[in-house]
Amino acid sequence: MERLNSDNLRIAVQSSGRLADDSVALLQGAGIDFDAYSRKLFASARNFPIEILFVRDDNIPEYVQDGVADLGIVGRNLVVERQVEVDEVLSLGFGHCVLVIAAPRGGPIATVDDITERRIATAYPATLARYLNERGICASIVETAGATELTPALDVADAICDLVSTGTTLRVNDLAPIDTVLASEAVLIAHRGSRVDAHERDINRLLLRLRSLLAARQTKYIMANAPVDALPRIRSVLPGLRSPTVMPLDDEGWVAVHAAIPEETFWDSIEALRESGASEILVTEVEKLIQ
Ligand code: ATP
Ligand code: ZN
Repeated sequence: MERLNSDNLRIAVQSSGRLADDSVALLQGAGIDFDAYSRKLFASARNFPIEILFVRDDNIPEYVQDGVADLGIVGRNLVVERQVEVDEVLSLGFGHCVLVIAAPRGGPIATVDDITERRIATAYPATLARYLNERGICASIVETAGATELTPALDVADAICDLVSTGTTLRVNDLAPIDTVLASEAVLIAHRGSRVDAHERDINRLLLRLRSLLAARQTKYIMANAPVDALPRIRSVLPGLRSPTVMPLDDEGWVAVHAAIPEETFWDSIEALRESGASEILVTEVEKLIQ
């Protein structure tokens, strides 16, 4: 049997489930080369001193807290629920979901005020308790280990506190959201102890790669042609990283403008560019963005 290389950095990721594929894709996108298809307990990267541990997501917060792994990729919801001592290093842009309180549609619970003295079922008792405490609401928490959405129909609870991403599960079970307890996405967490100091250099190398990939995913590169006199307007509407690159065209009085713009406001920028007089706008993906 293969053994863990104890000198190497270790990162724990979910072996199967909602975060599994995106976690592997993120590491591979950052240039870490390893076999993920067999999902053995762990894999060693071929081109970076790191071991990837494939585990249940429930174990990741404690593994990172206790130093079984130096790093982990897990939903923020679990980090918050377990109240572990780890550092949240990066938000990873996938696994988005919200922990919501929901109750049967058309029933007696329509707002947060109505949950007083009611039974709320959840797999996130610590997070829910904190939420109730902060608002001074007194309600009883029914702990579940799954299928929380079924508990009102079974009369085990009056409302639920559960993770949703699209809301389909709530609708199917005739539940309506009442309030948001926590917004979550996958995050990179790091151990706080001395193991991490020994790996600081490799952690920083990995972070640079991950940040470059995440920044690139949020950026588009555009090239457009414009009359020279449109430049002042174009400069003012392009959010760019710095200022756009401007190059003269053969056609006198015209220039080519290149800029990297945030994905988030992409269409606003394109519309503003066109209104400023730019035409023939070419857009490409950015593979890496190193800052
Ligand atoms: P494991 O077998 O590893 O214990 P699991 O069944 O507990 O897996 P998944 O359902 O795969 O966990 O969810 C993993 C994480 O995905 C959640 O902790 C949460 O951060 C995120 N997530 C994203 N969307 C949703 C959703 N709609 N419902 C539940 N979790 C979601
Ligand atoms: Zn789990």
